[in-house]
Amino acid sequence: MTFEKLNLVEPILRALKDQNYINPTPIQAQAIPILLEGKDLLGVAQTGTGKTAAFSIPIIQQLHQNLTKNRGRNIKALILTPTRELAIQIEENIKEYSKYTNLCHTVIFGGVPQKKQTDTLRSGVDILIATPGRLLDLINQKFINLKTLEYFVLDEADQMLDMGFIHDIKKILPLLPNKRQSLFFSATMPPEIEKLANNILNHPSRIEV
Ligand code: AMP
Repeated sequence: MTFEKLNLVEPILRALKDQNYINPTPIQAQAIPILLEGKDLLGVAQTGTGKTAAFSIPIIQQLHQNLTKNRGRNIKALILTPTRELAIQIEENIKEYSKYTNLCHTVIFGGVPQKKQTDTLRSGVDILIATPGRLLDLINQKFINLKTLEYFVLDEADQMLDMGFIHDIKKILPLLPNKRQSLFFSATMPPEIEKLANNILNHPSRIEV
């Protein structure tokens, strides 16, 4: 299996070549076709499996293909992740995979002044990577609204629960448009996580690696 077989557009294939990615990992080979069809996904996968590319590449591709519709710079994809380190890492990956597209992205997290983050948000982004607390903070201050959202990723759901982010997530969920593609990743699936996944996803495909 190669990335060429996955129906990816040329700017993404070129970016993956630059990264020296030759073959998709198992989660990428399974998830990318499902996601390009617009289906919801439940991924039971750990960090290190290549899950970041598995969710980022189809979102980048769909946004890139629709950019001609000229919908303006507004938040179309939200990736929620529990820690600042993961958030930064995801943004670095998205920066690489989207470098030959015209998509804009940024990352927000707590523990630092918000000014730089709100300045970037004001200039307009298509893809937002965020930790839950800072996201809610900036929503409450009206720096962010999620009305234009089309893609929602909840990453490391079990870690979110362990870190006490469940209340923040339950406040964020009602703010998301109902018509969206949702992706949910967790390393483990205890009952509480399964319940949360059922609340977020609509007839998802399930992949375990
Ligand atoms: P992740 O599980 O998303 O944290 O990815 C783990 C690491 O694997 C990251 O450093 C990625 O850059 C790398 N990676 C992801 N997909 C591929 C691939 N298809 N080929 C080679 N390396 C990859």
